[in-house]
Amino acid sequence: MIEDQPKVRDSLLEAALWFVQSAARLSRIRCIALIGSIVSDRPSPKDIDLVVYVADDADLAPLASTARRLQGRLQSQNRGADVFLADERRHYLGRTCSWKVCRPGVRASCDALHCGRRPYLHDDLATIRLPDSLVAAPLLELWPVVVRRCEVPADVEQMVSRLQQPHNPAVERTVGSHSFAAAAHRERWASRQGNVRKRVSMTGVNMRRFSIAIALVGGMWFIAPVPIAEAAPCLMVTLTGTQGGPSVFKGQAGAGTLVRYGDDSNDCGAVKLQFDTGRGTNMRLSQIDVSPVSLNAIFFTHMHGDHTEGFADIMMLRWYLKGPKIDIVCSSDAASVLGFTNSCRKYVTHFADAFLQSGEIAERRSEDKARLAGGPADLANVITFDPKDEPQIVWSSGDVKVSAVRSTHTVGHASYRVDTPAGNVVIGGDAANDKLAPPRASSTSDQVERLAQGVDIIVHSTIHPVLGPDRASGFPPPSFYRQSLTIDLGAMAKRVGAKYLMLTHLAPSLGAVIHNRWKVPGGPLTEADYRKAVEAGGFTGTTIVGTDLATLRLPAK
Ligand SMILES: [Zn+2]
Ligand SMILES: [Zn+2]
Repeated sequence: MIEDQPKVRDSLLEAALWFVQSAARLSRIRCIALIGSIVSDRPSPKDIDLVVYVADDADLAPLASTARRLQGRLQSQNRGADVFLADERRHYLGRTCSWKVCRPGVRASCDALHCGRRPYLHDDLATIRLPDSLVAAPLLELWPVVVRRCEVPADVEQMVSRLQQPHNPAVERTVGSHSFAAAAHRERWASRQGNVRKRVSMTGVNMRRFSIAIALVGGMWFIAPVPIAEAAPCLMVTLTGTQGGPSVFKGQAGAGTLVRYGDDSNDCGAVKLQFDTGRGTNMRLSQIDVSPVSLNAIFFTHMHGDHTEGFADIMMLRWYLKGPKIDIVCSSDAASVLGFTNSCRKYVTHFADAFLQSGEIAERRSEDKARLAGGPADLANVITFDPKDEPQIVWSSGDVKVSAVRSTHTVGHASYRVDTPAGNVVIGGDAANDKLAPPRASSTSDQVERLAQGVDIIVHSTIHPVLGPDRASGFPPPSFYRQSLTIDLGAMAKRVGAKYLMLTHLAPSLGAVIHNRWKVPGGPLTEADYRKAVEAGGFTGTTIVGTDLATLRLPAK
């Protein structure tokens, strides 16, 4: 019999969706990832494979029970499921025990190495063991944030977007637990991991927003989401570009962060604030369907080109589409001791001069007189402020307030904080300590630390110690010292009690042999290298090693 292959994938994905929704509600669960052939576009996978990362003190019994129900559900379709376990440090532990009663001596055939040492942990490491690389960086993380490490098939993407919907209308049904015969496993992991193309983006998911009712009716479990009465406010933070410095590397966009605030009815899109507009920002925004016309304000941390080059692109299109005026918020003119002045106002006033000179503005206006005669610069409503050591509110709209502080990097550099009822985020920019070189307590900015007290999310540029003068990369020490070290950011994030640290503007970029013009000592860095540095700083929250379009979504508090 020829199976209906799309149906096989659909039912496996449906089951995986149910599992993620259920398991995410259990306590001490840290992360859930999808691995195996379902993540490739294999037409008829034999099973679904998930990795659940658990706290050391997590009770595995409810998780094992949920896994058994997943297996029972798929067994009726002649398919299997495995729920692999890893600890918070991303070390492989084993699988969930598939027997209802799981303790030493119950099954003579049990091949667990340490039967019963941790209830419901089946550490049959001699039978199957996931490679460290796969556990450290699984192909697709589904919860609490979505991280893609490969091209994800369309049907899997659909499941991911359903996970993000806070009101899942589907009433799902599953049968009670069945005993489970483990499917034979293939040693396919290592080879797959080796040639994974790195295309990472993330979308925030927080399944705790689901309220799920469970009822046993006639021997069948019915599981239905209970609708939430009112639209909950939400905050989304997206890295629109993660390139650090003037160089180009594998299509990464220049520095920028999009902050969206709203509620479920407008997909968190009532207010859209763009912080910095590096090269390619508009392209990245188009990938998430954010038109330049829909932005409410643009904020600049500083005038370095890697943070400003994409501005003309955004404004030209906004002008072409006859969008409304927009607030451009930045520091007032700041004179450097070196004899020049950094002027955001002049930049914004003059960025479109070349298009006036070339005739482009006149040409387009001849097609439609409704376009502003002065060109895109006339769309800008420039709001400047004198950055101070203490936070001051520089922009607000309804529930959304943006504060700023002075921070050191270039003269006039500012860092921002956005406060909303759904949560808050600090955009550090390229900030570093006022003391420009060691000895100093930290490479991070004291003012940013004040700004970040109790914040949920910190988005910050970072530089890895590997480019330090002691490692002889040749990277200029003054440029090295005017960025925040990853380890110091981890320590700061811990001190202020942040929940999430989003590293961006990585120096060096992940996988880069050369950073800018300098060879990276010891070879390219991985995500794990940055994570390790953050952990060395003592941060125990969630670290996101930034890639373009990485997105974090916060639910209502
Ligand atoms: Zn920069
Ligand atoms: Zn800079």
